[in-house]
Amino acid sequence: MIDRSTFATRVALYHTLGCKLNFAETSAVAQIMAQRGFRSAAKGEVPDVIVVNTCSVTELADKKCRQTIRSLHRRYPDAPILVTGCYAQLKSEEVAGIEGVAIVAGSNQKLQLAQYLDEWMQTHQPISIVPEAKSITEFQPSCARGDRTRYFLKVQDGCDYWCTYCTIPKARGRSRSGSIQDLCQQAQQAAEAGGKEIVITGVNIGDFGKGRPDTFLDLIRALDEVDGIERYRISSIEPNLLTDEIIDWCAQSRAFMPHFHIPLQSGSDQVLKLMHRHYDTALFREKIMRIRERIPDAFIGVDLIVGARGETPQLFAESKAFVESLPISRLHVFPYSERPGTRALEIDYAVPIEEKRKRDQAMLRVSDAKLKAFSEQFIGAVRPVLIERGHGKSMAGFTDNYLRVNLDLPLDFDNRIVNVRLDSLNPENLEFNGTHIP
Ligand code: SF4
Repeated sequence: MIDRSTFATRVALYHTLGCKLNFAETSAVAQIMAQRGFRSAAKGEVPDVIVVNTCSVTELADKKCRQTIRSLHRRYPDAPILVTGCYAQLKSEEVAGIEGVAIVAGSNQKLQLAQYLDEWMQTHQPISIVPEAKSITEFQPSCARGDRTRYFLKVQDGCDYWCTYCTIPKARGRSRSGSIQDLCQQAQQAAEAGGKEIVITGVNIGDFGKGRPDTFLDLIRALDEVDGIERYRISSIEPNLLTDEIIDWCAQSRAFMPHFHIPLQSGSDQVLKLMHRHYDTALFREKIMRIRERIPDAFIGVDLIVGARGETPQLFAESKAFVESLPISRLHVFPYSERPGTRALEIDYAVPIEEKRKRDQAMLRVSDAKLKAFSEQFIGAVRPVLIERGHGKSMAGFTDNYLRVNLDLPLDFDNRIVNVRLDSLNPENLEFNGTHIP
């Protein structure tokens, strides 16, 4: 048994589930732990402490969190497990009951985990600090390097939209955001640490500045002026908050990439109403057409839920026809998953599991066709690519307009932006094979 009052080696293992925001926040936790002498576990190294940052976007996500915690405990039975994130916030008692869990910290307590660990080391008594989400008002910043070359800058947290299928407002609290000055400073620090690309993250980032005079457009204008950052991507923005001004400004900005990610969720107005979304399909189409007109080569990714409550076969057919008619680049398809405590459960019509699976497959086929058609336009084109290590020995990267390319280059090209010719499209994974053009 290790002596938990000292942690002689001070090695911490971090495990993150869920969204990019969670990844950014885990890195912020790791930075604080590092200030206390904890270094991240190398592959295969036995940790003294384990931090699990959880997700609760679906029932399946909850299950995955439980499985992850249990399996980490089986592997490292002596390491106390610190659990935070949306699942810890929403099901704190359930989490506290899992063997090996020493600390449960709510979604606004992530940056205090190191402090709670100090307390736990004194007493070895379980700690659970999970304030009610509606009491969360402060914004906790984080700007962190992802696994590879890009940084994730959290600019906003929480959500006030209350879509009927979603528990995120319950897990993360009300919408709040950082100050433009602080966020630019964090971007500056990322540039000084060698960062070239920043992904702007948050829960509902178009809501940035709510309750203040500054807006998301003010933020991206200011970030664009930060020296050294050569690329920004907006992780995801609600269509009703993606104003024409934002699109027009991105079209002529220095560093905002031709790349948008917009949640549609359904291509049926009736289903959108049941979901309590804040737009209709006409507005969605308008936004897509404006992007295509101003930034013709932009990659446009679209989120879609299939098999939501109320989505009858006829409404699904409507949704599919709508999506097929849009000049978008790819769909991110999510089969609807029931969430206890959501208003969606009051909607009568529930889609059978087998039917949900069929709809998922049908929309994935639409997505593949969209991605193929979008990508084929660029065969032979030369685009700037931020190079990172691919799988094995190969190098890879994304073009400005988010096309994935694999190529042969020496390892010292990592984190460099170079021109690459997109030679051919691999029909299996729809990724390009490319050649560096010096
Ligand atoms: S906009 Fe809707 S789906 Fe997105 S986090 Fe807010 S409530 Fe959830």
